Amino acid sequence: MSKKDKGRCSFCGNEVPYVQLFQGVDGRFICFDCIESAHAILAEQYPGASEADDTAKRKQRQEQNRAAAAEAGIVNNGKLDMQSLPRPTQIKAFLDQYVIGQDEAKKNLSVAVYNHYKRLLQPNTNDGVEIEKSNIILVGSTGTGKTLMARTIAKMLAVPFTIVDATVLTEAGYVGEDVESLLVRLLQEADYDLEKTERGIVFIDEIDKIARKSDNPSITRDVSGEGVQQGLLKLLEGSVVNVPPKGGRKHPEQEFIHVNTQNILFICGGAFDGIEKKIAQRLNTQVVGFESQNKTKRINKDDMLQYIAPQDLKAFGLIPEIIGRLPIITYLEPLDREALKRILTEPKNAIIKQYEKLMKMDGVQLTFDEGALDYIVDKAIEFKLGARGLRSLTETIMMDIMFDIPKQDCVITRELAEQKLAKIDANRLVG
Ligand code: ADP
Repeated sequence: MSKKDKGRCSFCGNEVPYVQLFQGVDGRFICFDCIESAHAILAEQYPGASEADDTAKRKQRQEQNRAAAAEAGIVNNGKLDMQSLPRPTQIKAFLDQYVIGQDEAKKNLSVAVYNHYKRLLQPNTNDGVEIEKSNIILVGSTGTGKTLMARTIAKMLAVPFTIVDATVLTEAGYVGEDVESLLVRLLQEADYDLEKTERGIVFIDEIDKIARKSDNPSITRDVSGEGVQQGLLKLLEGSVVNVPPKGGRKHPEQEFIHVNTQNILFICGGAFDGIEKKIAQRLNTQVVGFESQNKTKRINKDDMLQYIAPQDLKAFGLIPEIIGRLPIITYLEPLDREALKRILTEPKNAIIKQYEKLMKMDGVQLTFDEGALDYIVDKAIEFKLGARGLRSLTETIMMDIMFDIPKQDCVITRELAEQKLAKIDANRLVG
């Protein structure tokens, strides 16, 4: 039988090549298209079945997170009351165990999360003072720890938390996901408990990717970017959103869940590549004047992000209404040599610790000497891979060793690391 020979699907009746058919014990066939349709029908009619795995994984993750928070002395029993709330210093101390540096961002995030809790617990005192929500935006180059920070915070929260990528959001939902569907994830995290969902936290990553291309809407109007931003605005402002419970494609018979986003805290993150220029332009125009000399001297050109202001986000292409809804702007510092080296060894689940643990399971004591660590950091900088590259570099160095499993304890020296990396094409390393 050649690849071109065809058979007939017993379900749709179409003739398709045999390689695209499954044969049953009775000799009849089913084609790939019919298998896919059957799967879609199952997923829609028996959603529980396809979600069972996800739910089990989620539960396991929640358990692990609770254990990590308990170990750090942070009570996380799912209850909210002023006594058991982690204080901002406690939240930051927890972040410190996993995230190197970034003190400013950690501080801001800790306060934002703490205030979010307090806002949820605010007494109804009729004094006219109502604590408003302070959504937050983290600006920092890729690989500086924005997502890590969000994930770490999630470990210790007593509220549902989810991370979504702004790039998959679309205005209409034909391709990718609807803006509303990010609330579906939060609903899932809250086990479909609406009350819990409505006090959750959503981390929206890569918010810079939905910026319009120019801050002047009349010139280059990037309709799609702006449309998604308008959709997001609705969520950030606080409104009742009709959420299709299973997300994805809208279905006429599907009943919507009405989620009020008023109390949901949004944390946004983005690299905002090139925003340094906008910051510099603004600072340049500001410092024209007789004080200019002094001011220019104080500006650190290597770390322009520390001067970020709302105007720069507007110049980058976020609509002013969105910026207005993200009152806390904070930045992440670029990671220098020292920070990269610390990332290798210091965090609770540091990369080197992970390899040590792997080898220990084989009864091998693994050590990286200082020279090897310096070499990995040098290469990450040379190949412009940043913190993300540390793992792929270490993995490459460790590959043969993990394959052969040494008979005795193993020390990775600079020479050995050099030798292992010598044959590697830098383009194949993941950054
Ligand atoms: P971003 O979201 O800023 O692009 P990530 O948080 O995804 O970057 O960082 C990628 C990886 O690099 C993380 O999983 C972590 O291993 C490492 N990393 C980055 N920044 C830090 C940091 N400040 N402290 C510890 N590890 C970091």
